[in-house]
Amino acid sequence: MASMTMFRQSHRLKNVRYDVRGPILTEAMRLESEGHDVLRLNLGNMRPFGLTARPEIVDAVAAGLDAAQAYSDSRGIPVAREAVANHYQRQGIDGVRPDNVFLGNGVSELITLTLQALVNPGDEILVPAPDYPTWTGAVNLTGGVPVHYLADESNCWNPSLEDIESKVTPRTTALVLINPNNPTGAVYSEDTVRGIADIARRHKLVLLSDEIYEELVFGDARHHHAARAAGDDVLCLTFGGLSKAYRVCGYRAGWAVATGPLHLAGDLLEGITLLSNMRVCPNATGQHAISLALGAGTPDSPLPADIIDPGGVLERRLALTADALNSIPGVSCVAPRGALYCFPRVDTELFGIDSDEEFVLDLLRTEHILVTHGTGFNWPDPDHFRIVCLPDDAILDQAVTSIGRYLGRRRRV
Ligand code: PLP
Repeated sequence: MASMTMFRQSHRLKNVRYDVRGPILTEAMRLESEGHDVLRLNLGNMRPFGLTARPEIVDAVAAGLDAAQAYSDSRGIPVAREAVANHYQRQGIDGVRPDNVFLGNGVSELITLTLQALVNPGDEILVPAPDYPTWTGAVNLTGGVPVHYLADESNCWNPSLEDIESKVTPRTTALVLINPNNPTGAVYSEDTVRGIADIARRHKLVLLSDEIYEELVFGDARHHHAARAAGDDVLCLTFGGLSKAYRVCGYRAGWAVATGPLHLAGDLLEGITLLSNMRVCPNATGQHAISLALGAGTPDSPLPADIIDPGGVLERRLALTADALNSIPGVSCVAPRGALYCFPRVDTELFGIDSDEEFVLDLLRTEHILVTHGTGFNWPDPDHFRIVCLPDDAILDQAVTSIGRYLGRRRRV
């Protein structure tokens, strides 16, 4: 008999991970197939929790369905790119032009595409720890090296500027920031954003600023755009989209916007355009939601009260979750100031946790609650997990009570 050939994935996938949808989700699906009711608190996905988009956004997509039969311009439909440019101009970011706006199938595609255009094998890219794991995975996919800098839990999870600075080497080419942050819920202070831009300025790094949670900022926190701090002498790519505040993740409508010394970035932007051309175009249907979503948010056309408003549903659920977590002995949670998540610390000694993956799997099997382990976000120690704060107050409260009960059973003393 002829010998069998094994068909293997490429070596480039060796360090590529995306645990948010990894083996733990497979196990949750297995439990569900056995008839168990799993409370999925693993994805920042609004619709399953009844948090629907404004109807005008859905209507805009419906109205665009006929036109969307065609391929669009590979960088996206002009009206949407113009709306994105206007959105940033209104926020004081000068010189944003539709020509420098690239639409994509969500920010996810644009992260991969931009890094493919920018990074050579061996280039070092500074990425926060914890991070949204697409960033680390996409750097690894290019053959570049993700170098993680630490966010400081004792400083509301703001990144440590000293740690960033200490990790810059002659091979560093870009610096990623995620603000507001997934998974920590941090909203970086103005000093932090300026400090990061200064490091990029001094070391001639490209800033890659993931701001998909830009509008999800609560209490007295304020969002500060990296592109503003970067000014006209630091090349900055800002990533945003409709998946979070606009609650249409399934439409896959995201964008990347280049600002700063674009006269020095022609070659890179041509590379991003080339890859945009090769992918032909983003899903055309979702693009039709962009101008309505962004344009309707101007002060000239005020919107009815929304779930993301200060004092609204999301702010309450984040606070409720953090408070409930903090009432569990051996658990502490920095109150999130933005985004959709809590990233609590668990006392690994007290609960006998050596592997956070084992911990979240056991929690899933015994309580049927699906959360994500902290090391899945490239956090170095097995002492955190991420919980999505989207369900109704009562369900959230019950979920945290179950987590507390489970941890109580694990206590060593
Ligand atoms: N960036 C961050 C920080 C995220 O949390 C997410 C999704 O959760 C994404 C990007 C991906 O967003 P999109 O739906 O636009 O691909």
